[in-house]
Amino acid sequence: MNVADYIRTIPDFPKPGIQFRDVTTLFGNPLGLQSAANELINLSLNKGITKVAGIDARGFIMGGILAQALGVGFVPIRKKGKLPYHVYREEYALEYGTDSIEIHQDAIEKGEKVLLHDDLLATGGTAVAAARLIEKCGGEVVQISFIVELPSLDGRAKLSSYDVHSLIVFDGE
Ligand code: AMP
Repeated sequence: MNVADYIRTIPDFPKPGIQFRDVTTLFGNPLGLQSAANELINLSLNKGITKVAGIDARGFIMGGILAQALGVGFVPIRKKGKLPYHVYREEYALEYGTDSIEIHQDAIEKGEKVLLHDDLLATGGTAVAAARLIEKCGGEVVQISFIVELPSLDGRAKLSSYDVHSLIVFDGE
């Protein structure tokens, strides 16, 4: 089986017209989890990465695995109001309204080389905001990896100044 075969698609979730790409079935399968992890680890070896930052919440699971495998620390980027210490915050646009994410100001040191990871790239708004947070801390985003990419939403265009990788590309939104 390919990594893509472990991902479940739920039509019309959380609202009509959205094809929700559910990575919990990949995480729940030992072979799926291991092959996705190995492919992502291989993409990030020998890049001088010193931290992995994962985006709340599905980016935490593989992000933690990547950090452990690369022998570096893990940094959570969280939805607003969840982190207890001093934070930087970035707002980003949703289809209706805005949302914001935060990082601890001392989570990344100046000059650190950071791998940013999330489960899925759609419009790219979340990843751009997360990359800005890393940069506010003084870190350099050396790579951004996703399990799934939805090219129809053209998130890559927003991330054109970064080295972006995904394991699986699904057509449609
Ligand atoms: P975006 O900021 O538009 O790139 O959206 C990316 C974030 O929204 C990721 O954290 C994803 O987990 C989630 N997301 C967006 N679209 C989908 C989808 N079709 N299936 C699953 N998750 C999605």
